[in-house]
Amino acid sequence: MAAAGRFCILVAIPAALSTLLVPSAHHDSMLEGIPSGKTRVLDLSYAINDKLVPWPGDEKFFEAKVNATIEKNGYFTRSFWMLEHYGTHLDAPAHFPPGKTTVDQIPVKQLFGPAVVIDVRVESNKDADYQLTATRIEDWEKKHGRIPEGAIVLLRTGWASRWPDVERYRNQDAKGKMHFPGFSVEAAKLLISRRVSGLGCDTLSIDYGASADFAVHHLALGAGLYHLENLADMSEVPEASAVLIVAPIKLEGGSGGAVRVFALLP
Ligand SMILES: [Zn+2]
Repeated sequence: MAAAGRFCILVAIPAALSTLLVPSAHHDSMLEGIPSGKTRVLDLSYAINDKLVPWPGDEKFFEAKVNATIEKNGYFTRSFWMLEHYGTHLDAPAHFPPGKTTVDQIPVKQLFGPAVVIDVRVESNKDADYQLTATRIEDWEKKHGRIPEGAIVLLRTGWASRWPDVERYRNQDAKGKMHFPGFSVEAAKLLISRRVSGLGCDTLSIDYGASADFAVHHLALGAGLYHLENLADMSEVPEASAVLIVAPIKLEGGSGGAVRVFALLP
């Protein structure tokens, strides 16, 4: 499977990787710098409640009920129910065919990696149907070097500024079709060839809003990547040099689920 291939390549090209990744001593100091504040940590996830933007047609998406109260029981607990694909969430490969892996089975190694941020705010502002081109990825590589294997590629469209305004975030036309930017098939193909671990976006979907066939979902999830959708404001994440920690709910058999995403800034 794709995951097995990924491990083999890692062994084969450590030298090439190390020139592109920040050296490991630097990573160690990034972790060590968290308590002192020397390393900044950005939380790219929205808090979960009943006011997040749901996919059109999803009528019930979240519910929390109090089970025990301090007054009655001496302690406080709740139960909650939510859709797997609601708020900031991860799409596991099993979400779309031919993807197979469920959220609990994603190799943990894939959940940590350098963040590659591709800024398309200008393009997205001009054209809500913008799809990331392969050329824009190559432009990023000219500036920062080849995208390292295991990277998590984030598309910064600026759409987070519309959250949680349902109308502006979904941007539906009179026929109900949504209009927001996303990855193109050619961009996804190039990123798969770079052996990245996942794709992320600050919109409702990795495919652009007007997509009818979810071609990028089929392609990228089929190649063993995961998706991060509805990421919070990424304006402070640098185009290169941040490290991501992706922590999805370990829901057995899940097609995806709520995810906490942290960006460590050097
Ligand atoms: Zn999803």
